[in-house]
This record gives sequence, C-alpha cells and structure tokens, in this order.
Amino acid sequence: MTIAPADVLIARNPSTGVELERVVPTSTESVGPIVEGAREAQRSWNITAWPERRRILKQWAQGLARQADAWADAICQEIGKPRGEALAEMVMSLDAIRWTINHGGRALAAEKLGAGWQSFLLIPGARVCYRPLGVVGMIGTWNYPLFLNAPAIAQAVAAGNGVVWKPSELAPLVGCKLQESLDKAGFPPGLIAMVQGGAEVGRALIEARVDKGMFTGGSENGRRVLTTLAANGVPALVELSGFDPAIVLPDAPRASTVRSLTWGAFVGCGQTCVAVKRIYIVGDAEPWIKELAESARSLRVGDPASPDIDMGPLISEAARERFDRYIRAAVERGAEVVTGGESRSGPGWFSAPTVLSARSAEPESALAGVFGPVVLVRQVKDAEEAVAAANSSRFGLAASVWGRDLDAARALAGRLDAGTVTINDAVTPIGHASAPFGGTKASGFGRIHGVHGLREFTQTQVEHARHVGGLRPQLFPYSQRIPAMLKAYLRLFHR
Ligand code: NAD
Repeated sequence: MTIAPADVLIARNPSTGVELERVVPTSTESVGPIVEGAREAQRSWNITAWPERRRILKQWAQGLARQADAWADAICQEIGKPRGEALAEMVMSLDAIRWTINHGGRALAAEKLGAGWQSFLLIPGARVCYRPLGVVGMIGTWNYPLFLNAPAIAQAVAAGNGVVWKPSELAPLVGCKLQESLDKAGFPPGLIAMVQGGAEVGRALIEARVDKGMFTGGSENGRRVLTTLAANGVPALVELSGFDPAIVLPDAPRASTVRSLTWGAFVGCGQTCVAVKRIYIVGDAEPWIKELAESARSLRVGDPASPDIDMGPLISEAARERFDRYIRAAVERGAEVVTGGESRSGPGWFSAPTVLSARSAEPESALAGVFGPVVLVRQVKDAEEAVAAANSSRFGLAASVWGRDLDAARALAGRLDAGTVTINDAVTPIGHASAPFGGTKASGFGRIHGVHGLREFTQTQVEHARHVGGLRPQLFPYSQRIPAMLKAYLRLFHR
C-alpha cells in the first residue's frame, strides 16, 4: 500500500476548528539516517552507568513538572480536553516516569540464579542480565499525547536504548513540546529523536533498521505495522483498540455506579482506549438505561477553554464523521438511541454523549472499534451470559465488574479476557504507576509501565561463569565415571 505524504501538518484546535500552527513533516528519506544517528548515540549511552541515566531522567522530569500549566494548556488546545483531564494526564505521566527513576535501577540490575540441585552436576550458577536492544522505533497516538509517549520513552532510554519516535499527525505540537523538553534535559544529542508526519513517516520508521517497534493506535494499522516488523524479524509491542465491557451485577448500588460508568464512558469524549463502551446489566436494565441517559444528558459539552465543561470535542472532522457512521450502523443493526446520537453544528467537532440500548448482540458487532462518546447498554439474564457477552468481542483491553459483593465480582473478573480488569472502577486505575498495562486478542500484546514495561525494552542475556580450570562434569576423554555419576543423579532426583 502506498501512502501519500502530507506536505504540511496543520494543527487545529478541535473545539473551534481554528488553525494553531503548521509543522513541516520529516521527509521519509531522512528517517533512516535519524535512526542511524540514534544508534550512534546509543553506543555510549549503552555503557553509561545507571546513576547518570537516572540523573538525566530526573532532570527531564523536573523540567516537565515545572511546566505543568503550560503542558495543560497545550493539551487542552490541541486535543480539546477539559483542564482537569489535561492535568491528570500530566500527573499520571510524571508518576510513571517517577517509578522508572526510583525503581528502574533495581529492575534492570542483574539477578543471580543459583544452580540449586543441579550443583550435583557441577552446573555453574547464572546471572540474568537485562541488556538494551539498540534503537526503539515508537509510533504514537494523540488521545493521551503525553501519557502514551513520555513514560515509554523514559523506560526505553532508562534501559539503555536510543529512541526515534513519531507523535500522531493530530498532535504534532504536543510532540514538538515533548521533544523540546527532552532536548533540554541533557540526553546525548540524537539519542532521542522525533520524526513528524502521518502514516507514511510511521511506515518509514518501522522499515528503518529499528531493533524493536512500539505502536499505539488502531488495530488495523497495528496489524499493518506488525506485518512489516515481522517480515524484518523485528520484535514488537503493540497497544491497540479496545471495546471495553462493564458487567453490572444485581447488588450494584445504582446512583454511585451510574455516576462512575458515565465518567468511564465519556471521559476524554469517549476517546479513551479503556473507556467503557458496552454495559451488561444482569437483571432489569430499564431503570439503569433511564438513569444512564439522564446522567449523560446532564454533561456540559463545549469548548474546554471554559472551566464549566465536562466533555470536549472529537479530535477532528474526520473522526466525528467516522463516529456518526458507527452510530448509524449500530442503529441499522437494531440499537435504539436513548439519548444523544447527533453531532452539534457550529465550530468545533462536538457530538452529544450517546446512550444506545440493545435487545440483542447484533448492534455490538457494528459498534466494535468505535472511538467517541457512546455507550451501549444491554440486559442479560445472569452473570454467565454477561461473561460470555463480555468475552465475545475480538478486543480485550480492559473490562470491569460492578457490585457490592467483592468476592463475587472478583470471581467474574478473573474470567474476563482482558489485559486489565477493574472492580467498581473504570479508567482511573490505568494511572497506576507500576501496574503493567496492555491488551489481549486484537487489543495488542506486550506491556507498558512498571517492571514488565521496562523489560520490554531489554533483551535477556544469561551469563554463566566458572573459575579458570574449575571442575567440569564432562570432558574428553570419556570414561565410565560420567555414566555412573549421571545414573546416581537420576536415582537421586528423578526416581
Ligand atoms: P491510528 O492507527 O490512526 O494512528 C496511530 C499512529 O499510527 C499515528 O501516529 C499514525 O500516523 C500511525 N500510522 C497509521 N497508519 C500507519 C501505518 N500503516 N504504518 C505506520 N504508522 C501508521 O490511530 P489513532 O487514531 O491515532 O488512535 C486511535 C486508536 O488508538 C483507537 O482505536 C484507540 O483505541 C487506540 N488506542 C490504544 C491505546 C492503548 O494503549 N491500547 C491507547 C490509545 C489509543
């Protein structure tokens, strides 16, 4: 597939449609040399001791924290988020980076493995070492332009790698701001480089000689990226789309659950990868549907430049048109619009918070992969049917269970096929600074954050060492001694 390069990226405020700034994309021909530049810088970074890596990371994080207000402004303007959400993104990003600064050294330190019972075979002990991969190519998305890029960059460089990363073409300004902060922090020049552009530049990046590809975005594009990486034998970490289910058990308290589900569905205008998209009510769904619709209708939608706004716009005109098509398709397949379902005219790409109800599973297949302010509610007869419905999707990013009886909720949560399961909560726990995050099935594989995330950017190397001339079990010339010793070993440990 050939992808036409864009001449210029035009950043717009999605609340007004007004142009903010233009960014010149990186030419596809220069992506390869930028990757080689990062590789060159990585050669010395690779042998830079942890305390020095940590010092620079800390300097960078402190610089970010000092600019919290400016970051919130930049995110509000380019993504259209309410200020509280932009600041929450800042806090979650800094928390995740802080974890790497505080615990990265220990997580990357070599681990000793004794030989255990195998000492009888004179097998030497081992040290498991976490070595850098080289250069990581990262392709990012726009919905959390700081949180989904900065902590991963921190982990990749903490582990001793170079990084070439591409922000989304829908958030090039936050991308420039992030790269500027990295340039000022004191990392070796070229170690962390940004390329700007759309899919064609992303493709040039993963076709360049990267040692691992990380992709955050839609499942279809993720598969394209995986195909290219696989053809070149390059490992991948992919964080893809979700279609998150919530199971509401009969003992869930209605008022507080409706409030939490409303937030879980419409935070970030529903453009949150772990937003609740499907709600399965065990028992009578009617009162739930009514209250969820009332709650959705009460949200104040508008330009988040004003402080009294709960929900901003979709990211672009194209995103809103795509969203409308999803709603129409779900309605054609039998969904009923309880509230919302229409876009707002005027400047900006707003759409009303939408609650759909369904009597069958049909509309779900039409809605799977939607990225916007909609939630579909369906009644199921019991918890078994709810689990089957939740697991029926091809996506498996996050899932939630709601109810007073924590043991019962936990028992169900353990049966849900998703990378993260939450009980009586949604979305917020993803901010946990060290919990590994990632999906199952079409939602991707590999994990970000914490020890699991950090080690995604390493290769495991095992070192076995013996003293010079130390005793070895097997040496030429063979004699009767070795078979006798092995037979004794078998008797001792494998009888
Ligand atoms: P997208 O797939 O359109 O784009 C993501 C990035 O990939 C962009 O930088 C884009 O330029 C690049 N790209 C697109 N096609 C490419 C190709 N063929 N080769 C290389 N690069 C390519 O997705 P989007 O609109 O930016 O993001 C929305 C999607 O991302 C939603 O489906 C959402 O669920 C998902 N998402 C997932 C997570 C997660 O952590 N799992 C987080 C945020 C968003």
